[in-house]
Amino acid sequence: MDRPRFMVMTYPAQGHINPALQFAKRLASIGADVTFVLPLSAYRRMAKGSGSEPEPGTPYGSAITFAPYSVDGYDDGFKRGGDMKHYSSEVKRCGSQSITDLVVSGQNDGRPYCCFVYTLLLPWAGNSAAELGLPSVMLWIQPATVFDVYYLYFNGYADIIKENMSKRQSHTKTTLPGLSLEFDRRDLPSFMDAEDAYSFILPHFQEQFDMISKQNHQRSILVNTFDELEVEALRAVSDLTLIGIGPLIPSAFLDENDPSDKSFGCDIFHGSEGNKYIDWLNSKPKTTVVYVSFGSILDWSKQQMEEIAKGLLSYGRPFLWVVREKRDKVENDKDCDEDNDELVSCREELEKLGMIVPWCSQLEVLSNESIGCFVTHCGWNSTLESLASGVPMVAFPKWSDQGTNAKLIEEEWKIGVRVKPNEDEIVESEEIRRCLELVMGKENEELRRNGKKWKDLAKGAVKEGGSSDKNLKSFVAQMNHIS
Ligand code: UDP
Repeated sequence: MDRPRFMVMTYPAQGHINPALQFAKRLASIGADVTFVLPLSAYRRMAKGSGSEPEPGTPYGSAITFAPYSVDGYDDGFKRGGDMKHYSSEVKRCGSQSITDLVVSGQNDGRPYCCFVYTLLLPWAGNSAAELGLPSVMLWIQPATVFDVYYLYFNGYADIIKENMSKRQSHTKTTLPGLSLEFDRRDLPSFMDAEDAYSFILPHFQEQFDMISKQNHQRSILVNTFDELEVEALRAVSDLTLIGIGPLIPSAFLDENDPSDKSFGCDIFHGSEGNKYIDWLNSKPKTTVVYVSFGSILDWSKQQMEEIAKGLLSYGRPFLWVVREKRDKVENDKDCDEDNDELVSCREELEKLGMIVPWCSQLEVLSNESIGCFVTHCGWNSTLESLASGVPMVAFPKWSDQGTNAKLIEEEWKIGVRVKPNEDEIVESEEIRRCLELVMGKENEELRRNGKKWKDLAKGAVKEGGSSDKNLKSFVAQMNHIS
């Protein structure tokens, strides 16, 4: 029998490409063929990270084929100060054309696709595939809990949530059907807050959820989580089937089925600094180093960066800190300073104690024995990577799903401590030190025990016969059957 053929399309951001590519690798490992579709500019940056630019179409591993599509005028990527609206509409136009071309050529070759899988912020892609008669399924790359909250927001609970969010100083809790957690304003996805600088993103989510509601046939959503981690949230929305198929993390760090699978293969911002930091980490005793990183997008204001620096110096233990170059100013985002010159002062003093790098291979760092805790923005990939490595966290969220993830880390999974910002939304150095002492100190037994528990459960979920392995296999069988 022919191998089932899937098409996977991702939004071109690191936090989206990483899980999508890992999903493609999982499909390939259980006998499916996958065409991985993304803009040419993202594909080129990915390929640069791996040292050379493979020809489009070259198989990745045994069964993954890349199909980069050209976006008129943007093949070198989106430039600073460019017209975001125009860029997005071109991605949509060229991406939709690419889906059509691939579907038609699959049919002409007698190797049709059985399913189209797409990540966040691409609702038009699901529509394009559906119009061509190809079943389309979304791969949700945030926790199931966050999916539920958005779903409920767009299905009758917007007023309750908006009201809670507008009461800035109050401690009103929001309760939602199917979820036993009670949410403060800071625990809900920040785009739902009308005053948030990024609330303009909410309509994109609305489009996505409207599309899910309209679909009659395919009522399943693939979620980068696992049954044991979010038992309740995976069942909270009764008219949809949420399927836990994660954590989508390279095999070498989880089930070790494929020890060569060590990176996502797409470190878009990969630097040329090599991995001196791994030698440095190797020279440190077990669980003594603080790892600090805020993902691939988020910026902090200069004032916040100074507080982090002071906090690390005052705590006085070795640290590895990823300080990326800044991106453009975003209107109303007080953390995006236009002044890009010096991201942290006292660099010399800092470098006596720790190491500052512009990028690192995060999973290699988290799996290094020297790491004692992860100061993280709680991006969903970083959160899952920390859980799967058993590393306790100082949860330091800013926006999007990060506040909800921080709540889960602290209250549900009990593998971290959340920082408390002051009235001006700054987390002061003393607070950072307090959290580091809690997470790294002798009293952290419970956090470490839970770290071990989640690490074992994450590994168990993806290994043969584990919950995510079984869920994925039955999803593939179902899609193959439909086609
Ligand atoms: N990452 C990395 N090196 C770094 C910082 C981040 O490899 O120095 C990876 C990290 O392992 C994760 C992704 O980039 O897979 C960031 O995704 P996440 O969802 O945590 O945050 P986002 O960047 O989307 O805010």
